[in-house]
Amino acid sequence: MQDKENIEPCEIKYAVPSYYDIYKSGGSTLKDDQRGMRLMLDYFSEYFTEEQLQANMQRYNLENMLAIVKDYFLKEYGYVATNIELNNRYQRTINSYIYNDEKNPAVVHIDELLESTMMAFLLAMFKWSKDFDNLEVYGNCYLYVLFLMNDVSILGEMQGEDANRELLEMVADDLQILQLAEDCYWTVLAFSLAHEVAHAYLANIGKKYTREHPEKEEFDADEIAYHIVLKIIMDKEARGIVLEPYTYLAPMMYMDFFDMVYYTDRILYKTFFYNDTHPALKKRKSRLFAIVDRDEYILDTREGNYLYRGFNEVYKEYKIQTVLKMEKGKLTKILRTKQREELKEMMKGEEYND
Ligand SMILES: [Zn+2]
Repeated sequence: MQDKENIEPCEIKYAVPSYYDIYKSGGSTLKDDQRGMRLMLDYFSEYFTEEQLQANMQRYNLENMLAIVKDYFLKEYGYVATNIELNNRYQRTINSYIYNDEKNPAVVHIDELLESTMMAFLLAMFKWSKDFDNLEVYGNCYLYVLFLMNDVSILGEMQGEDANRELLEMVADDLQILQLAEDCYWTVLAFSLAHEVAHAYLANIGKKYTREHPEKEEFDADEIAYHIVLKIIMDKEARGIVLEPYTYLAPMMYMDFFDMVYYTDRILYKTFFYNDTHPALKKRKSRLFAIVDRDEYILDTREGNYLYRGFNEVYKEYKIQTVLKMEKGKLTKILRTKQREELKEMMKGEEYND
């Protein structure tokens, strides 16, 4: 079996039923809503009151988003997904997965690490894109994205309060960037939740995939997930939650995010993931583009296209800068090769199935 870990932003874990408890409650939790709110209030105090932030968090959270995704599985596919639970604890991985032994309730895992990384990633990328010509912003945003890739995503370390502060200082008072990042963030999370639930749905309808074409299941799950996301967007409001039309390409950014992580891993640590049997992120992305082109999705795409163009520019810029800096020996300081090797070694022991 080839190493599957980190090849896709999703893994399907098949395991013996006794593992259920581990998957249900494995990991630790670092989340501190109060701290998050205090930070936000410091930097955006002109715009929000504490009550507003609290009300917002009560509406926009992972549990609610999963509930909406389940509503849409029922509506669009006739699939009753009540038997799916959420594990949001910190397991040092940005990869989400679903654990489904088909006896116990299935568990969708979206790591706290992915949650906090995704928000920070979008903030830094959008700010960078917006103020591209400002050298200071450019430099700070590049370094922050590099930190998110290396320390956080590859090495699995949650951003500390210091890092959070640094980021919020960079975007302080830029309400537009905050709004863009938050809106795209929820579309990304809705997509990844729907993708995982789609695996349970595909198992439920008895869809079988051959070992020769393991990528087919990923494509199918993506297609269903994107359909669900686009439907939520088009319906304008579900359970009080709105996914903004201009975020319709956020799932592409999600693919690009993983592409940047793997790219960084290759440049910094010579880690190679790709092989013939697994669908590259590029392929998955082009499939998503083909889906959204269908007539059934009626959306105002102008703003979304504009946002994605800007995102794409910094995505390319990041790659160019990283390989250049590595070649010039400027990244030696941030390399933690020994730690990376230990992580790779640890992952080898884990069972992953195609
Ligand atoms: Zn998947």
